[in-house]
Amino acid sequence: MTPSVILEITLTVLFGLSIGSFLNVCICRIPEELSVVKPPSNCPKCNNEIAWYDNIPVLSYILLRGKCRHCSTKISVQYPLIELLFAVILLHLYYHYFDSGYRLIAVTYFGAFSACLLTATVIDLKHYIIPDEINLAGIIIACIGAMVYPRLVNEDSIWAGLLHSALGIGAGFASLRLVVYIGGIIFRREAMGLGDPKFLAMIGAFIGFKMALLVIFISSLLGAVVGSIVIYLFRSDKSNTVIPYGPFLAVAGYVALLYGNDLVQWYIRLISFE
Ligand SMILES: [Zn+2]
Repeated sequence: MTPSVILEITLTVLFGLSIGSFLNVCICRIPEELSVVKPPSNCPKCNNEIAWYDNIPVLSYILLRGKCRHCSTKISVQYPLIELLFAVILLHLYYHYFDSGYRLIAVTYFGAFSACLLTATVIDLKHYIIPDEINLAGIIIACIGAMVYPRLVNEDSIWAGLLHSALGIGAGFASLRLVVYIGGIIFRREAMGLGDPKFLAMIGAFIGFKMALLVIFISSLLGAVVGSIVIYLFRSDKSNTVIPYGPFLAVAGYVALLYGNDLVQWYIRLISFE
């Protein structure tokens, strides 16, 4: 490893931890319709402002042994977990795009994508909603990035980049909306709200329309398997089959971004062997 690679990895980890810390703020405040920039963080129990030295990602949680300095209320383990997870995601992206010739730009762009996926996942698990703010922010970042640096989305001009995102948005929204509509006819109830189609529109803005369609396939497969296990093992009321679909879309979106082409190739080989 060269010194510059070590520097890049260090920065990627530090950047991941601090953005992860910001994502925690988003996860707590966006569902409450509060600003994510001010006021500064305070303890939800005793309201004391959290000093900068008690707000260092992961490290402060360990030093404070997971408790507020003033009132000793337990701090949710969600905070260090999200920070660590996001740092790992950025490292994974760095590794994946290492030889691309634009790895730092890719880490930034698809890091923003992953930040939207992770924030929406946790909010959907907690509140059964995916806030429009996240989808909108993602769509704007996706379009700007695809136009400014079209190579990120395998295109070669501003307009091809924009078209990539626009088609992804349209296909993501329309295809999942159609599935909801057909599901509604078959099962005679609304299988999901508009939140999920809007979320897939955001995912499509980053990964394009072909991969957005692949996301429907992967996420329904994941949802069927994981959903049944969760309901069977952990639900006391087995008739309650409501599970948030957003997390499955998010995982599928990430998988499609990094391994979508390989999966499609593999599948084509599989069926052509007959
Ligand atoms: Zn406190």
